[in-house]
Amino acid sequence: MKPADVRRVNGRWSQVRVPKVGWVRFRRSRPVPAARSYRVTQDRVGRWHVAFAAVPDLIPVPDTGGVVGVDRGVAVSAALSTGELLCCPGLRPKETERLCRLQRRFARSRRGSNRRARLRARIARVRTREADRRKDWVEKTSTDLARRFALIRVEDLRIGAMTRSARGTPAAPGRNVARKAGLNRGILAQGWGLLVRRVEQKAPGRVERVPAAFTSRRCFACGYVVAGSRESQARFCCVACGYQSNADVNAARNIAEGRR
Ligand SMILES: [Zn+2]
Repeated sequence: MKPADVRRVNGRWSQVRVPKVGWVRFRRSRPVPAARSYRVTQDRVGRWHVAFAAVPDLIPVPDTGGVVGVDRGVAVSAALSTGELLCCPGLRPKETERLCRLQRRFARSRRGSNRRARLRARIARVRTREADRRKDWVEKTSTDLARRFALIRVEDLRIGAMTRSARGTPAAPGRNVARKAGLNRGILAQGWGLLVRRVEQKAPGRVERVPAAFTSRRCFACGYVVAGSRESQARFCCVACGYQSNADVNAARNIAEGRR
C-alpha cells in the first residue's frame, strides 16, 4: 500500500482505499502508523476491523538493564527472576459464572432456533472480551520487559509439541494425560506464544530461549535436581539445602542463568 491510501477525515475518523471497493471509513482506535500493508477482518461478534501492519517500535536497550528470566508458570501467567509474579487478566468470577450459565442454556437450546443463535452471539461476546484483555496484557508486558531488561531469557517450551494431545491412541495410550491437560490449559489460556513473539519483535536479538529441561526441578541455590514432576506444587523446597521459594520464581531464576 502507498501512504496515499490512508487519509484522515476528522478527529476520530479516517479512510482507507480498499481495492475494488473504494474508500472505506474507519474509526481510529489508535494513531495509524506508517504501514506497509493492512488487513480487514471481522471478529466473532461481527465487528469489522482494519489492522495496519507496522514495523513494531523497536525498544532501545536500557542502559541499566540486566538479564531477566521469564518462566511461563501454570499457577501464574509469568514469573520473573526478580521475584515478580505477573497475571494475565482473564474473566472475572462473575463473568465465568455467566459464561457457564450461557453455555448450559446453549446446550439445551434447539438447533436452528433463534434462541440458540442469540445465545451463541452472547457467548461470543464474553469470549471476545477475554481475548481482548489477554492481547492488551501481552502488549503491556512485552513492552515492559523490553524496556527494563537488556537480555530476556525465556523457557523454550515448544508450545506446539506440548499442546498436542497427550491422549495417544487406543493402541498406544499417552502418559500423564491429566497433567498435560492442565498444563495445556495454562499455556493456551494465557497467550504464551504471542507474548514471546511480541518481545522478540520489540527487542530483536535480545531474547534467548533456554532449554526447558530441569528448570522447574532444579534448586537455584545449590543446583540439586529434585526427582519427579513439580508442575503442581506452588512452592519449591529444596531437600538438599533447604532453599525455599515460589516454584515459578525458582524456575525463572534458573532460566535467567541460561543453563539447563
Ligand atoms: Zn538446594
